[in-house]
Amino acid sequence: MAQRRRLLALLGGAISTSILLTGCLGAPPSQRGLNRGAAIQVDPQARAKLETGSITLGFVPILESAPLVVGVEKGFFAKHGLDVKLAKQSSWSTARDNVVLGTSGGGIDGGQWQLPMPQMISEGALTNGKKVPMVVLAMLMSQGNGIAAANSVKDGNLSVDLRQSSPGFFQKFSQKEGRKFRATYTFPKANQDFWIRYWLAAGGVHPDKDVELLTVPAPETLQGMKNGTMEAFSTGDPWPSRISKADVGYLATTTAQIWKVHPEEYLAIRADWVNKHPKAAVALLKGLIEAQRWLDKPENKAEAARMLSSRKWFNVPQPVLEQSLKGQYTIGAKATPENNPALGPLYWSSDRGVISYPYKSLTLWFLVESLRWQFYPGTVDTIQQAEAINNRVTRDGLWLKAARELGLPAKDIPTSTSRGKEVFFDGTVYDPSNPQAYLNSLKIKR
Ligand code: CA
Repeated sequence: MAQRRRLLALLGGAISTSILLTGCLGAPPSQRGLNRGAAIQVDPQARAKLETGSITLGFVPILESAPLVVGVEKGFFAKHGLDVKLAKQSSWSTARDNVVLGTSGGGIDGGQWQLPMPQMISEGALTNGKKVPMVVLAMLMSQGNGIAAANSVKDGNLSVDLRQSSPGFFQKFSQKEGRKFRATYTFPKANQDFWIRYWLAAGGVHPDKDVELLTVPAPETLQGMKNGTMEAFSTGDPWPSRISKADVGYLATTTAQIWKVHPEEYLAIRADWVNKHPKAAVALLKGLIEAQRWLDKPENKAEAARMLSSRKWFNVPQPVLEQSLKGQYTIGAKATPENNPALGPLYWSSDRGVISYPYKSLTLWFLVESLRWQFYPGTVDTIQQAEAINNRVTRDGLWLKAARELGLPAKDIPTSTSRGKEVFFDGTVYDPSNPQAYLNSLKIKR
């Protein structure tokens, strides 16, 4: 039964009995719901230098996972001797359960994460006290997320700056409807929860008092908005774009408008895997860096969208993905067209430097923000605890080794673990050398 549950978790539910039975009899990985790329052979000479030839990573079909898919499809991992197997995760909690199992237990070695999931899995705060140490190795993507609002609240004219566009809207909504405005995300106490909370609070709206926040799986949001069970939704591309394309809602704000070149999702792997296979971890990072550089090139975006749109990966229409990848959005209740690659998902470069490098100053922000909302009592109660966890989990040495071995230009290899001060749309400053000052400056918090 435990094995069956494990397999179901890995496959994400919708599978046929025959596959399930085969899986129980110990099917090869290709039959266990793992998505393999085109038949690109692993380079045998590169493979011979590594401690292991394969790794299994979880992914969620949103644009944050694009570098993993591209790395497999374009052979960037294979070139460095690694067979990367990608396993689609039906939800973030499934990914968490699978990384606790590890590959030996039928799960995954790591993969794509919202923060601070890897930190909290390491500390046992998401896993009923069971500590599974993990390592954050790279940022997968910046920006490319957004907050969609339902057409039923079009008159609210929700935008990035709620103080300007929608003063008193949420209070009026409660009075008129006899219930609070409902907003959802796909997993609590991580990225999408942080973005919607930051946005609301900066607009003078208390996320714990003035609205109701709920967890809903991404695929249920289209229907939920149609049925009026939610008025807003915070998630990654292509979901906000799909909601506006399906004419059930509009994109109130992109996360890029909230915090330009903000940290989004990360690659994190179980520490036992990384410690046992440091050379393979560097090979993985080399393939990832090459995939991220490829993805950022304008001439590759159409090909990337075509690749990702396939049933095997995202199963989303290619034009929707292509527009998101190119930063083509329709923003706001008045549907203002935006066509700016700097506003869309960024994988490699930005005017704040390299995206992929795991700046400790950025991974720390998620722990400081956890402190703001008291998300993990007993684990993150002080700045000192946040910094200690951050220093344990975020490791930049392997990334730097991979970058140097690839021969990247010096400008693409950071020389500090801090990206420096960060400024949000409302003028709030997060100075990673003084997180307490940031916390003190925030008016709405727990
Ligand atoms: Ca995201």
